[in-house]
Amino acid sequence: MASKSKFGLPMQMLLGLVLGVVVGAIVSSDFASTYLQPLGQLFIRLIRMVVVPLVFATLVAGAAGISDISKLGRVATKTVIVFALTTAVSVAFGLIVAGLIDPGVGLTLSTEGLVAKQVAAPGLSKVLLDIVPLNPFDAFTKGNMLQVIFFAIMFGFCLSALGERGKPVLNFFELVGDVMIRMTNVVMRYAPIGVFGLIAFTVSRHGLAVLLPLGKLILASFIATALLVIVVYIPIVVGIIRIPVGTYFRGIFEPWLIAFTTCSSAAAMASNLLASRKLGATKTISSFAVPLGNTINMNGTAVYMGITAVFAAQVYGIELSMVDQLTVVLMGVMAAIGTAGVPGAGLIMSTIVFTQIGIPLEAIALIAGVDRILDMIRTSINVVGDSTTALVVTRLEGELGSEKLTADELA
Ligand code: ASP
Repeated sequence: MASKSKFGLPMQMLLGLVLGVVVGAIVSSDFASTYLQPLGQLFIRLIRMVVVPLVFATLVAGAAGISDISKLGRVATKTVIVFALTTAVSVAFGLIVAGLIDPGVGLTLSTEGLVAKQVAAPGLSKVLLDIVPLNPFDAFTKGNMLQVIFFAIMFGFCLSALGERGKPVLNFFELVGDVMIRMTNVVMRYAPIGVFGLIAFTVSRHGLAVLLPLGKLILASFIATALLVIVVYIPIVVGIIRIPVGTYFRGIFEPWLIAFTTCSSAAAMASNLLASRKLGATKTISSFAVPLGNTINMNGTAVYMGITAVFAAQVYGIELSMVDQLTVVLMGVMAAIGTAGVPGAGLIMSTIVFTQIGIPLEAIALIAGVDRILDMIRTSINVVGDSTTALVVTRLEGELGSEKLTADELA
């Protein structure tokens, strides 16, 4: 992925971003939606095309690659515990910072004519039942990531139990995973143009002026996320992973930037796998934690759930009781887990939180104006959380830095 030249992919994507803002500010919104938006939509379609086979193959290979069943159980448990703890802490961070900054107080924005899409909040048992696909092929065709993940882990688990006999199938999925990583890298070559189209369309449609009244929301989001990195991630890097902070930041820079500019965790996954490997995670643990986290571990989206709940409650003058706040944490975790790694998914999922605490869903339409910017912030942290977890689990297994990168990974 990393092009060695100075003007590599990250720089090209930044350029796409800047040009997108400039062009979006100049052209009419009709022009942008006819000519520029399709450039962005093409990119999103390409990413959606690769994500199901990419996550499935790497996760099967990751789970089955851990041949010792008790180790697989241990790695899975540690990974899920790190995911769950960091996600819950993230929602709480969002709630607290928004409570201090008051992003929605004094905001008298008209929501007239704005129509929000709704996702009804399902009951807990339905949420859990829905993780199990009735038919795995249906889950593949619909792109239902939680179901794909569930099937992939069970498949990998059973494949690993076959031992030697399962090796040909394991090799097959490892190869499919490698093919999909290559395909993602090919798709990513188009990312700078895709980013350009997406940003130009957003800016021309909403105008930069939309940023002003909602500036406090963006600020709260930025501060909460930065605090999460300072108060949670850096101590984890120093205390648990035990690598220099500078090395860590340099290592995660590329996936971070891809996520920031594309607003898609799925787009950054291949780069994130490589980044966690370079920082010392083993192949099996990173191929387990990174694709799994790509859908279920969304710390940035979790922060966003907390912030938008407080923001919307303030705009509508709704007091959030202690119970409401706990509900936000619980539903925020569930909404973040269910959010797909594509642009804008978190906005739709936040209706689950809003419905639960009685916030009018028009709030979604209000936030939508600046959601692209909030998405950049949250997606970059979503991605960083996955590679960080892979590193934590590798360290807890006592294997950090124990494996060299293969020639294929370095290709
Ligand atoms: N865009 C985010 C991601 O890809 C998901 C979200 O919208 O929260 O991780």
